[in-house]
Amino acid sequence: MKEQLYTLVKVQKIETETSNIKAELGQVSKKLEKLDDELHAFEQALADEESSFDELTKKYRDFESDAQTNLSSVDKTKVKLRSVKTNKEYQALLKEIEDQKAKNSKIEDQMLECLERLDELEKSIAKKKQDHVELSEQLKSEKGIIAQDVEQKKKRLVELDMAREEMVGMIEPKLLEKYNTTKSQQAGGLAVASVKNAVCYGCNMNIPPQMYNELHRRDALMFCPHCHRILYWDDSG
Ligand SMILES: [Zn+2]
Repeated sequence: MKEQLYTLVKVQKIETETSNIKAELGQVSKKLEKLDDELHAFEQALADEESSFDELTKKYRDFESDAQTNLSSVDKTKVKLRSVKTNKEYQALLKEIEDQKAKNSKIEDQMLECLERLDELEKSIAKKKQDHVELSEQLKSEKGIIAQDVEQKKKRLVELDMAREEMVGMIEPKLLEKYNTTKSQQAGGLAVASVKNAVCYGCNMNIPPQMYNELHRRDALMFCPHCHRILYWDDSG
């Protein structure tokens, strides 16, 4: 029984390491997702600026064509001015030209604003593109490191799985069944607990002296009266 229990403890250690590695792998995929999100957010910000730039360029061209139309109206009005008969008509046309010019000056102001904003955007886009190259490189190297780590962990999992199979094969089916049932009842997953100085290391409670003595003397399967884990005598000192 003693040998069997020690083998069972080894199985338990393997299972603990396995589940730790699996949890770490879960964290790794979350980390990878986060890195991808980061890059994606950056690319989105860049795309937003690029589309603002395109919109603004279009707006600038619209202003340009408005100004052009306006200028030709001014020219037409000037032509009309040559053939007016009355002073009243003349004054009205002059007023019209003034209004058209005022309108154009407003458009020119807007065009200037557009140009300033376009200039800012152009600089910001260029900077973002440069940063994007750096960020991509950085993420690529981080991902490379993570991939190596994942590969090592997966290799270790295969090793652990093989070792577990071998150990499990050496355990009596009835004991193995008892182990699995106990494990499923434990929140922490540990089914076997060592006993040292009359303390169960599964729940840190004292086991009755009689039971402790028995555990010493008899080579039998025993359970902690508090946490119901399978007990084994730890004589490692
Ligand atoms: Zn216990």
